[in-house]
Amino acid sequence: MPRAERRARLAPLRTRVHTFDVHRWVTSFLEQLAELTPTGPRSGPTASGGAARRALDLRLAETDSLILLLDYDGTLVPFTPTPELARPDAEVLELLRALAARPDTQVHVVSGRSADTLQEWLGDLPIWLHAEHGFLSRDPETRQWVPAAEPGGSWREPVLAMLREITQRTPGSLVEVKTAALAWHYRMADQETGARRANELRLHLNQLLSNQPVEILAGNRVIEIRPYGVHKGRIVPALSPERLAATTIVAIGDDRTDEDLFNVLPPDAISIRVGPGATRARFRLDGVATVRALLRSLLESGVAAMPGRR
Ligand SMILES: [Mg+2]
Repeated sequence: MPRAERRARLAPLRTRVHTFDVHRWVTSFLEQLAELTPTGPRSGPTASGGAARRALDLRLAETDSLILLLDYDGTLVPFTPTPELARPDAEVLELLRALAARPDTQVHVVSGRSADTLQEWLGDLPIWLHAEHGFLSRDPETRQWVPAAEPGGSWREPVLAMLREITQRTPGSLVEVKTAALAWHYRMADQETGARRANELRLHLNQLLSNQPVEILAGNRVIEIRPYGVHKGRIVPALSPERLAATTIVAIGDDRTDEDLFNVLPPDAISIRVGPGATRARFRLDGVATVRALLRSLLESGVAAMPGRR
């Protein structure tokens, strides 16, 4: 091939390499990393909503009890521009109340949100609430919030300073201070700037926290720093083998923090990932509307399974 022609053919490639700056390379690399967890989830096709419904029907036909482990944002309610706007609507409140009244049914909402927020939004319902990915739990009888461990740690101050600094440089982002964890939200920031700053932040945090008992989590437009070992998997109730055999466990969630829950479920449990992304869940639903429809159908199956009890 003549030299001039080869050069002409390579020109577009050169331009592309030049315009892809270091930040972009780092960004796309970290985005690929974000899809992986240490245990390596299955990323292949997961069965659909119809299959979830059939598996659920089969399981319900052979068990008496039902335990629902439900994420909140992106699962029960849609995402909103700022976290405060995601208040529960009347429909979801009514749905959770009806599920809690279903015979032999336990409803758990497990969220990354603070106990104050869950208390304000869902505190009147007779359900279990788990805040900060299971760091604090409240049962429906005593309605007292109980922490899983002592909060605090020397890492908090420098991390908070770093989050405040990046917030100042990233319009639209905000810091959330929780009992156990700190979080940086960038849903309202310019998309590209937000993603770039998030990667920058993760690199700095990795350096700062390499010897600390904390973990750094990239959620849906949020970076969270929390004590190690505090995750949603904590809240799965410990059941005897007999109880387990007689119980249908359904877990539904939409992001990486929910994978901690899916990871520790017994094999018969119905795990459902909402939306795209690598997952360990057995089934997948496409969004909040289909999650609500599936939950509503449980109210009918509860009545059908137990004639005469309403
Ligand atoms: Mg969620």
